[in-house]
Amino acid sequence: MEFIAIMMVGAILNGLLASARGRSVAGWALFGAFFPLISLLILVLLKNPKAEAEKAAAVAAANADYMRRVEEHRAAVELQQSEKTCPRCAETVKKAALVCRFCGHEFAPAGRA
Ligand SMILES: [Zn+2]
Repeated sequence: MEFIAIMMVGAILNGLLASARGRSVAGWALFGAFFPLISLLILVLLKNPKAEAEKAAAVAAANADYMRRVEEHRAAVELQQSEKTCPRCAETVKKAALVCRFCGHEFAPAGRA
């Protein structure tokens, strides 16, 4: 009778811990009924698959966000590099332009901004 009570306690404890750690409740309860201490120890040492998946998803989202920001920055730099500011009217014109399309200012030949 005592033996059965110990088995039930082992099964319940391991089932609860398995549930909390995202593992099969029935399987770990059965294992815990026969080897309660070993089962508890293994459950504590095993990684939580749910938490691991959440961690991986968070890392993937952070990576995607970072790559998006890098791409935005690259596009902004590219735009900036393809333009220059007119010294006379302060408008932004294409870098290759020889004449400002806003005020008619003539830029020095290529090589100087
Ligand atoms: Zn101008």
